[in-house]
Amino acid sequence: MNFKAIIEEIYQKIKVVEDKGELASYIPELAYVDSENFGIHISTLEQGNFGIGNYTDKFSIQSISKVLSLALAYRMLGEKIWKRLGVEPSGTPFNSLVQLEVDNGIPRNPFINAGAIVISDILISHLENPKDDFLAFVRSLSNNSELNYSHEVAASEKEIGFRNVALCNFIKSFGNIENDPTEVLDFYFDLCSLEMNCQELSEAFLFFANNGRRTVDNLSILTKSQAKRINALMQTCGFYDESGEFAFKVGLPGKSGVGGGIIAVHPNQYTIAVWSPKLNKKGNSYKGMRFLEDFTTKSELSIF
Ligand code: GLN
Repeated sequence: MNFKAIIEEIYQKIKVVEDKGELASYIPELAYVDSENFGIHISTLEQGNFGIGNYTDKFSIQSISKVLSLALAYRMLGEKIWKRLGVEPSGTPFNSLVQLEVDNGIPRNPFINAGAIVISDILISHLENPKDDFLAFVRSLSNNSELNYSHEVAASEKEIGFRNVALCNFIKSFGNIENDPTEVLDFYFDLCSLEMNCQELSEAFLFFANNGRRTVDNLSILTKSQAKRINALMQTCGFYDESGEFAFKVGLPGKSGVGGGIIAVHPNQYTIAVWSPKLNKKGNSYKGMRFLEDFTTKSELSIF
């Protein structure tokens, strides 16, 4: 499979299509990003790596970090995390409050904000230095000791994060947050502010394509079953109320963030990261979705 030629061809095509998306200006700092950025990087298990466009420029990974925080909590605590949150697609926007009332403060899944806030709470309860320990985990996955949070982006989101404050307090009222909501949100905003480029992202996620094992040394990050389960959650919940559409058009597990990044995983084959900052109405990268749709169509490879 000549991934390089396919990526080059689709990159040239999508680069010039009209971008109908909008920057995520609700977090002021994200509106300063150059919306022309467009980068792609693929990391494969057996056919090498390839990047094109702005694939070495860092961006705010935002909700993509929810997969990594889930992986760390799952690795540490195993199945008992599922007492605190569900595994069903929500069919609602990422920051929605509506289901929490009827669900008694149990978020539908770990990839909506409510679920990631509960995972943040779990990590705070079980890590000695949550911010440092999480960073060390992601650095070890991407083999890059320089990765860091963006204090500007975290501070910017803290200023306008009223919905996340509401979500965290609402969940706490049902008894599903153990720690002080201010501390939980502070950690959550830092997780979202993590900055990575497409190359680092596709490298860090490669263990999801490799049955839970880090490729450099075969170290088990998650069991085979745990990796399968997180891939299943990315498939069913990774794009909020557009998860069905992503499965329909792309056919891979994946996760988006409002910084315009998307990671997609082809188990036993590759991971691919795409970044283009303008978002469609559901909060997913407009060009990123278009690119991945063409990529699995042209390569004729998907999990289905
Ligand atoms: N930090 C963002 C928020 O909480 C993450 C949302 C996203 O990337 N979908 O609103």
